[in-house]
Amino acid sequence: MMFDIIGDIHGCHNELIKLLNKLGYISFVHGMIHPHRIAVFAGDLCDRGPSNVAVLKTVMKMVSNRNAVMVMGNHDHKLMRFLKGNKVNPSHGLAKTIAELNNKTDEFRQKVYDFLAAQPLTRMLDNDKLCVVHAAAPRKYQGELSGKKKKAQQAMALYGVTTGKVDMNGYPGRVDWAETYDGDTVVVHGHVAQLEPSVKNRVYNVDTGCVFGNKLTALRYPEMEFVSVNAEQKYAEHKDFI
Ligand code: MN
Repeated sequence: MMFDIIGDIHGCHNELIKLLNKLGYISFVHGMIHPHRIAVFAGDLCDRGPSNVAVLKTVMKMVSNRNAVMVMGNHDHKLMRFLKGNKVNPSHGLAKTIAELNNKTDEFRQKVYDFLAAQPLTRMLDNDKLCVVHAAAPRKYQGELSGKKKKAQQAMALYGVTTGKVDMNGYPGRVDWAETYDGDTVVVHGHVAQLEPSVKNRVYNVDTGCVFGNKLTALRYPEMEFVSVNAEQKYAEHKDFI
């Protein structure tokens, strides 16, 4: 099976459609489809960008018609908690998504909740040769875990390894877990926006900060080629990203 793993979309629907077209997906009654390939969304569908509901609709349609799968990102998890009725801080662009969802029906919001709640923390693909996760999946945090282990996996999968301190720009200090990764399984993730996609010890980062005005990137697997489309504009500011 061949996959296209797509980084953080954050409401950039135009760029998503352009990227899928560039990857050979065509628009059909069942959404965007490819005859031989499956799209894998690495999480963070919404927040900050201009077209959050449109992204949800496209992704949900692709997933329900088995043209795509997804893993949970930290923004997806927070949106899910909001839709459940939990009190959450609508920061980091969530307010934008909520405003869009307020114009939709209860039924649609319930559909989004059910969809997000069904997404796993990691996805093992190609007979465990490939692991897709939003932020981080060191060897012992890959696949389906339970109990205490799942709790630790959730923090890792959604937020990555952090130092507990903030950097000079006010962002959480991060530990580069890829530096010590020694697994045979290829891990593909998003979460940390970079100007260019990267690879280190079989760990691929495909978040290229589209919503910050850079580009949206996919990794074609098993070809291991990056394919990107440029952002149409800068939708949000990021101090690391000029
Ligand atoms: Mn993100």
